[in-house]
Amino acid sequence: MKEIYMDYNATTPVDPGVSEAMLPYLREKFHNPSSIYSGAKEVKKAIEEAREKVARLIGTKPKEVIFIGGGSEADNHAIKGVAFALRGKGNHIITSAIEHHAVLHTCQFLEKMGFEVTYLPVNRYGIVEPEVLKEAIREETILVSIMMANNEIGTMEPIKELAEVAHERGVLFHTDAVQAVGKIPVNVKELGVDMLSLSAHKFYGPKGVGGLYVRWGVKIPSLIHGGGQERGRRAGTENVAGIVGAGRAAEIAMEEMDEEERKIRPLRDKLEKELVGRIPQVIVNGHPEKRLYNTLNICVKGIEGEGMLALLDMNGISASSGSACTSGSLEPSHVLLAIGLPHEIAHGSLRFSLGKYNTEEDVDKVIEVLPWIVERLRAMSPFWKEKEDA
Ligand SMILES: *Cc1c(COP(=O)(O)O)cnc(C)c1O
Repeated sequence: MKEIYMDYNATTPVDPGVSEAMLPYLREKFHNPSSIYSGAKEVKKAIEEAREKVARLIGTKPKEVIFIGGGSEADNHAIKGVAFALRGKGNHIITSAIEHHAVLHTCQFLEKMGFEVTYLPVNRYGIVEPEVLKEAIREETILVSIMMANNEIGTMEPIKELAEVAHERGVLFHTDAVQAVGKIPVNVKELGVDMLSLSAHKFYGPKGVGGLYVRWGVKIPSLIHGGGQERGRRAGTENVAGIVGAGRAAEIAMEEMDEEERKIRPLRDKLEKELVGRIPQVIVNGHPEKRLYNTLNICVKGIEGEGMLALLDMNGISASSGSACTSGSLEPSHVLLAIGLPHEIAHGSLRFSLGKYNTEEDVDKVIEVLPWIVERLRAMSPFWKEKEDA
């Protein structure tokens, strides 16, 4: 059975153009970029070209981009970096309740070290309201970190406004833009952010390589100490093939972004409309418009996401119940709880996240199979009674 992959927010397959660009750097161009012979200089040059491409994708200069070991490391670096650099100035950090665990668990770690963290609430669509941020900023606040687009429900945050609110009070602003970069236009200068995290494997690049934008002039310490790579901001011999792949993926994203949206949005919309039409008692999560065009998160009342996922998998359909990291745990998604869903409804969540290799046939298959799966599971569910108003 051919797999129907609809979990692009968890990871994407590597674009063939990307793997092709990477191959020489796993084979003959193996040199250490810090060495001095010509082979090494060529490798060094390839890294700098990749840096230019990633910088172009987010509207900045290469010297403001650090290559790093993925989205989680970028988030850790930004948040811990500011915490360590500015602890003399203050100990208060603000983030939101719906961040990725790379941000939330970093903040919890810092709380154990004596920092204070405010986890801002969101409205029922998952939006952090600038007014709410304004109220939370204190004299001791040193950093605000709010994600650009949520990985589970796809809601897009008003980053420009939020960054302005932080800057009015002289506070640095970081955004986890891992789900946005490569999907929608991102320009760090227009957004006015001080730091931004991105990850190559979320836009058809390889896993384990990401980028952190740090505005020139923002001084944060390295967290990985060793050699002087990345201008002393992140030590360790570079992940050359990965970096070259990230660069090529950035280039392809720039070329294909508009076309991808034109292709993927109608597929997602069809999936949403048909599932809501065919399955009784379904809720669509996230903002109706300010939402990533590839993401559909629904809650199916009366049954559990895990059961649906298992039956979808038996039909060759790969989806998720929320974030990859929460799957397998019995706790419902912190994002769905934060938008105000009760536990029993949050347990029935399903996330379909589409990408450039999905087709209309893929969508039709899900539309055909899921209503039947839901009916079967509800028939067995002690929590489901056909309601009169259903
Ligand atoms: C995937 C993801 C991350 C983590 O990125 P990795 O490269 O997998 O470490 C961080 N934040 C968000 C919003 C993500 O979707």
